[in-house]
Amino acid sequence: MDLKQHIRGIPDFPKPGILFYDISTLLRHADAWQVAMGRLANVVRAYHPTVLAGVESRGFLLAAPLALKLGCGFVMLRKPGKLPGATVGLDYALEYGTDRIEIQADAIEPGARVVVVDDLLATGGTMAAGIQLLQKVGGDVVAAASLIELTFLGGRDKLDVPFEALVQYD
Ligand code: IMP
Repeated sequence: MDLKQHIRGIPDFPKPGILFYDISTLLRHADAWQVAMGRLANVVRAYHPTVLAGVESRGFLLAAPLALKLGCGFVMLRKPGKLPGATVGLDYALEYGTDRIEIQADAIEPGARVVVVDDLLATGGTMAAGIQLLQKVGGDVVAAASLIELTFLGGRDKLDVPFEALVQYD
């Protein structure tokens, strides 16, 4: 199955000039979602993770079912102020301005092998921040994975762990 047939590009979202790759058409198609999750499971399984970390919010839609499929735990990397209890955060640079992600301070057990999952890798800034934050709380980040990679932005070069994607746009 060609997963690209189930991903649509929406021009000028969220801002003029941006082509937004929308996975909601894939998620609502039972077979396409099943195939995508099966393929993602195959590539992620090879790293023998014990925990998958999902990046808010579309990353959750992939990481949580994938963790169930692989028998892993699931942890959330969230926008600021969303997680209860003690948290650890990381500020990172965007094209214009900065952003911040947080994790619960006790989310990662010693010795956990973590794979970070998001829907799409663009500049790589979000994924790099997720990896760094997981490392900060003691995670052994063994890989990162996404459904889509925008290869022309070179995001994977920002990552210091192996990166896997199912679909590339260049
Ligand atoms: P990056 O930090 O530039 O790599 O951007 C990746 C983050 O922005 C991910 O969390 C994506 O969910 C989101 N993102 C950027 N572009 C798109 C897109 O075209 N479709 C869906 N999500 C996107």
